[in-house]
Amino acid sequence: MSAAPAKKSIDSSLSTNFNDDIQKQKYNNKKRESEETWWINGVFVIIVHIISLISILTYTADRKTWAMTFVMSNLGMLGITVGYHRLWSHRAYEAKLPLRIVLGLLGTLGFQGSIKWWVLRHRLHHRWTDTEHDPYSAAKGFWFSHMGWIFKKPHYPRMKLIDASDLNADPVVRFQHKYYVLLALSCGLIAPTMIASLWGDALGGFLYGGILTRMVVWHSTFCINSFAHWSGEQLYSNEVSARGNLLLALMTHGEGYHNFHHEFPKDFRNGYRLFDWDPSKWIIYALHTLTNQVPKVTRVPENEVRKAMVNMEIIKAQEKRKKCDWGVDSSSLPVITYEQYKQKQEQEGKEWILIDEFVLDVSSFKDDHPGGAKILKNYYGKDSTKAFHGGLNDHSKAANTMTAMFRVAKIEKNQKEE
Ligand SMILES: [Zn+2]
Ligand SMILES: [Zn+2]
Repeated sequence: MSAAPAKKSIDSSLSTNFNDDIQKQKYNNKKRESEETWWINGVFVIIVHIISLISILTYTADRKTWAMTFVMSNLGMLGITVGYHRLWSHRAYEAKLPLRIVLGLLGTLGFQGSIKWWVLRHRLHHRWTDTEHDPYSAAKGFWFSHMGWIFKKPHYPRMKLIDASDLNADPVVRFQHKYYVLLALSCGLIAPTMIASLWGDALGGFLYGGILTRMVVWHSTFCINSFAHWSGEQLYSNEVSARGNLLLALMTHGEGYHNFHHEFPKDFRNGYRLFDWDPSKWIIYALHTLTNQVPKVTRVPENEVRKAMVNMEIIKAQEKRKKCDWGVDSSSLPVITYEQYKQKQEQEGKEWILIDEFVLDVSSFKDDHPGGAKILKNYYGKDSTKAFHGGLNDHSKAANTMTAMFRVAKIEKNQKEE
């Protein structure tokens, strides 16, 4: 009888160890996968940066090429903010097919992967912000969230939990995903080269409209993952690292108000307030009101935003409150009788007065008393509650709060002189 349980125990311990080993192995494999460098991606990104830098330093482009670069950079950014982000990632508004085609093409200019790939990763970012499952987690440092993640082979074990049904149902998303490389090269590199060749600056078109534009649009988007999770205001929530920042909004067509966006991702606005700089919001709103291409925009109810703001004000006020010295906590005070209070004052010459249920030692304060030290001395060993609350002077809120600084004892209930 005794051998069986022993065997069982050995077996179960072996099996536990074996399972532990498998789990450890799986974990290590995953860790290795997630730490693997993504060479093709990394080298491509580095080459684009090097060519951009050399172009700026050595090649003088035609003015028209500069103008085209400016226009293409902004169109690419808007393709990402209005299209990839607010439409496809968050369904913050509805767009008809012609607009989706245009936004798909503009987003392709951003050279940030297909809509489907970008959106799924972004949904992971929102669902597991700042955790190990966030593809560009700010918790892993500024560099990682800005660009470092691009150099790591993607390994997203929770991707299967992200809903992609809306993306799979959209023919624009499916088409763009299927022909992404061809479309990206055509829109992002061949088109600017050909356009600039019209004024005899094909090389400038390639270097500036093609390569440099890619870098500008990249960093505009990357700043949201890094700067907007690092510096700025938290007006709506402090649950994740997302912050709001006017400077960043200026650089990103309004995406810089990232704190609002993380709290209310379904809202078509990132800059919620009227004066917030958010051209992406204005474009969507203009398309909604002036055309038939945006039948519906989503706004969270005003009251919900106000509640979030009030909650944050309370949190901030509580943090400020913690930084003040509010005096002696009443629960830490010794409890004495009214008689003991009087005796101590008479026998030991204590400079004590009684207000409400607290004995206050006013020796350090009496000379600063606005009504003069003499009045205080008159109440040593007596109950000055009535005088304090209007009998002589109805003291201010600040005076009431200040009394806590001088507490030395608490009077037992029903012990006070009537
Ligand atoms: Zn974010
Ligand atoms: Zn988002």
